[in-house]
Amino acid sequence: MNSKELFEKAKELFPGGVNSPIRAAVKPYPFYVKKAEGAILTTVDGDELIDYVLAYGPLILGHQHPRVKEAVEEQLELGWLYGTPYEAEIKLAEKIISHFPSIDMVRFVNSGTEATVTAIRLARGYTKRKKIIKFDGCYHGSNDSLLVKAGSAVSHYGVPGSAGIPEELSRLTLVVPFNDVETTEKVAKENQDDLAAIIVEPVMGNAGVILPKDNFLKELRRIADDVGALLIFDEVITGYRLGLGGAQARYNVIPDITTLGKIIGGGFPVGAVGGKKEIMEYLAPSGPVFNAGTFNAHPVTMIAGLATISELERDYVYETANSAAHAVVKAIEQELVSKFGGVVNHIASMFQWFPKVEKVENYSDAQKADRALIERLHTELLKRGVFIAPSMFEAWFTSAAHASDIVERTIDVISEVAKVLQA
Ligand code: PMP
Repeated sequence: MNSKELFEKAKELFPGGVNSPIRAAVKPYPFYVKKAEGAILTTVDGDELIDYVLAYGPLILGHQHPRVKEAVEEQLELGWLYGTPYEAEIKLAEKIISHFPSIDMVRFVNSGTEATVTAIRLARGYTKRKKIIKFDGCYHGSNDSLLVKAGSAVSHYGVPGSAGIPEELSRLTLVVPFNDVETTEKVAKENQDDLAAIIVEPVMGNAGVILPKDNFLKELRRIADDVGALLIFDEVITGYRLGLGGAQARYNVIPDITTLGKIIGGGFPVGAVGGKKEIMEYLAPSGPVFNAGTFNAHPVTMIAGLATISELERDYVYETANSAAHAVVKAIEQELVSKFGGVVNHIASMFQWFPKVEKVENYSDAQKADRALIERLHTELLKRGVFIAPSMFEAWFTSAAHASDIVERTIDVISEVAKVLQA
């Protein structure tokens, strides 16, 4: 069956035809993958696509990296699920602790969502307070406490929050604009006796890409300390994407709790919560805050994560991924920004173009950009063999597999599409 036929069938089986909403936004219908290798996805329709989505962030080495594949194959020979501790989890935790300045201890879970659910519960349990500050347009997974004014597919589909979350719970989540120190401080002070945590994507990656202004993250650290709340960095995207120590090492700001996911599982389901020992020991079984999981620290994930991070310790990965991003950004600026205006926000190997606006420093700036143009860009690129996210509220990602020939092909397609696209 081809993609069109498969999707017709899928619509009978899954709400909206998919198992995660953004997948349905690929136009005219989602393609089904036959296989993936390096930077290339091959569809069941026989098309070859250069992949700038990379499963929404995890695949910084590209698809089927030989070191990861080899490690996983070796692991399969030993079994794949034990329900008991396994040495690889110690090795992976040691790596993460060595790279992330804020992390002394780790709890592995199965997704970024589980990581933020656990981090919020931990912050509430530790501080014995209830309220949370989050930033407009930041997405922290499908987490009841944080699905308020969220980015990613929540923005794409224009869902202001989500049905099914009691208002009593949403009221505990206070939403302020990213990069706005004054408002954050005001709201934090007003709620000081009951503020458990400030949670932030240190670089926003779910409303396009939005960078923190000069001292924004340092100011969040100060405000959290002033009111006795914990600072949580959600580094599910930025962890290992911006470098070995994530955003916290890059911006030199140390949160109390860090959530990780995506890259640390090497392409297998994963999440992690990390932080200072004193806080982490509030988690069961050493403390009163509960978290558990049949699949926590899954052996295959641990092995794949370990192989991935070991590869990241070699310079070529960041060099290749970052220079690919740089070249594609330059092409977008030359071919698209010159014609339609706008700004490309870019850091390391993640970026997004916001057409027709001069700057994007927060979510309301992002909303003023021409999102329909990005959706048309997605469609036109896809027709010519380049796959980008179908929404402006996501990021382009590059990987170690985005070698110069792949980048050159992409740039040719971008200049061809620039001629076709109309304002
Ligand atoms: N936090 C951030 C910053 C994310 O980008 C995401 C997913 N895109 C999540 C949390 C949720 O992760 P998951 O999809 O693995 O549940």
